Amino acid sequence: MKTYAKMSATYAPTLKEDPAEAELASHKLLLRAGMIRKTAAGLYSYLPLAWRSLIKIEAVIREEMEAIGAQEMLVPMIVPGEMWQESGRWDVYGPELLRLKDRHERDFVVGPTHEETFTELVRNELRSYKQLPVTLYQIQDKFRDEMRPRFGLMRGREFIMKDAYSFDATVEGMQKSYEDQKAAYARICERCGLEALPVVADSGQIGGDTSVEYMAIADAGEASLVYCDCGFAADTEAATAHIAIEEGPEGPCEKISTPCEGSIASLAEFLGITERACRKSFAIIAEDETPVLCLLPGDHELCEVKAEHAFGHYDVMDDEQMKAYGLVKGYMGPIGCSPKVRIVADVSLKDSKSWLVGANEELFHIKGACPGVDFEVAEWIDLAEAKEGDGCPKCGAPLKAARGIEVSQVFQLGTKYSEAMGATFMDEDGKEKPFQMGCYGIGVSRTLQAVVEQCHDEGGICWPVCVAPYEVEVVPLDVKGDVWNAAVEVAGALVGEGVETIVDDRKERPGVKFAEADLMGFPYQVVLGRRGVKNGVAEVKTRATGEREEVALGEVAVWLAQKVAAERR
Ligand code: ATP
Ligand code: MG
Repeated sequence: MKTYAKMSATYAPTLKEDPAEAELASHKLLLRAGMIRKTAAGLYSYLPLAWRSLIKIEAVIREEMEAIGAQEMLVPMIVPGEMWQESGRWDVYGPELLRLKDRHERDFVVGPTHEETFTELVRNELRSYKQLPVTLYQIQDKFRDEMRPRFGLMRGREFIMKDAYSFDATVEGMQKSYEDQKAAYARICERCGLEALPVVADSGQIGGDTSVEYMAIADAGEASLVYCDCGFAADTEAATAHIAIEEGPEGPCEKISTPCEGSIASLAEFLGITERACRKSFAIIAEDETPVLCLLPGDHELCEVKAEHAFGHYDVMDDEQMKAYGLVKGYMGPIGCSPKVRIVADVSLKDSKSWLVGANEELFHIKGACPGVDFEVAEWIDLAEAKEGDGCPKCGAPLKAARGIEVSQVFQLGTKYSEAMGATFMDEDGKEKPFQMGCYGIGVSRTLQAVVEQCHDEGGICWPVCVAPYEVEVVPLDVKGDVWNAAVEVAGALVGEGVETIVDDRKERPGVKFAEADLMGFPYQVVLGRRGVKNGVAEVKTRATGEREEVALGEVAVWLAQKVAAERR
């Protein structure tokens, strides 16, 4: 039979002070509320309260996956190295991939994601178009040896992921599977109490062309995004914004003295022009060893992800390399450097005719430089990182910027893995064709912390009902006599109404109980004191709003059960 939990018997070691290891509010609170503990860098234990919330998040995921016909299963966490060789990822995945050898010196990896395993699984047994589509998923620990594990569950090395893989016969079929997953992901965020936006994403190392990330909006998020009231939203890594051209000072192309420190800000101030009217130069060495000078509007940064797409794994030029190619730090430009340097420019500058660029000479710039006349641009590429105020690519209105936590991502993979691994089926026309695939990941443990990051205040966590470890905490200020008897009665009645209830049965001072109730953040607190019980009332506090109401002892269970049920989603 179901009963209420007792705080005295709950393993939730709380901390009075903010732990030094934590920066983010959500990380501090999960540690302080006794919900998680660090085992080693990027490795966390989920204590009983957090585990209850995780189980709820997983339950929401399972319901939404079932609703779209995805089937749950489980593959080994360890993946044979040959599969990664076959897909080609063995050579391209960096040190994040934990590789190991067994006693027979065979290569294995600890799966950071499982495209290979699932593709291998179906390639011999899904044989005909008649068996398609199929979507399989699992909820499992993943391992990525992140360079900077931090922020608790946000960027762990071992973390819980739900990963799904769809196999279709046609591109249209894949798009349908993708849209189904995308819609399910929106509902999952909503039901977990997250305010999240679907943003256009870069497809990254997984490959393929079309991808969306769900971003939980939070100032503490590691990702930056731009969005517009028209509905457009994109990761700044993937956004191609409209950047209006601002020309440099007019007049013939000539060298001018600019006795100011070699930064765009001081140059713009010295000349009395905007930063955008200047051209910023980034010198890099592309993966194929070509020296490249990238020219951008002066108020924009080079977007690393876009640069990787254009130049492969590039390096920023060091002082010596700059010198060798005739580039002068702080005063770099396309004129006067070595002809070996390939000049590329951001696509937004294509129609600009009067550029203010570095002269490759200390304290000098060149104004009125015109591409095609005074220097050649080998290629116009989208390289600038989008930012607030740039034009929305859909409607042109100024974009807004926000920070977000990437909680999930969906990808259309096409035939990237199926072709590489020879995973084919017999189509209607009798021909062998590679599967059209999609893959879909949710950071389950990251989602838990994202909820805390969005739902907390000074006093602690404010769990939304849907993912709270318990829905109601009964807080008797006495653990004997009438007050305790009332607590037992109310808790029993709550459980009878189907409400997940915990009772703080510890012999602690009221101040301690109140502070810990707020810290752990169960959505409703039923406070029972001597006077109230004598008058036949309980005080109910709504954790998120701080609102307090007096409710008759005999009615409080039914009254709360209704409130809780309405918020379960
Ligand atoms: P990020 O850009 O944050 O490193 P990713 O894009 O590499 O993440 P995916 O490959 O898309 O991650 O994995 C699917 C989901 O797994 C992510 O949306 C995220 O929620 C979660 N995830 C990825 N890396 C981590 C990590 N180190 N710790 C916790 N969760 C993670
Ligand atoms: Mg991702």
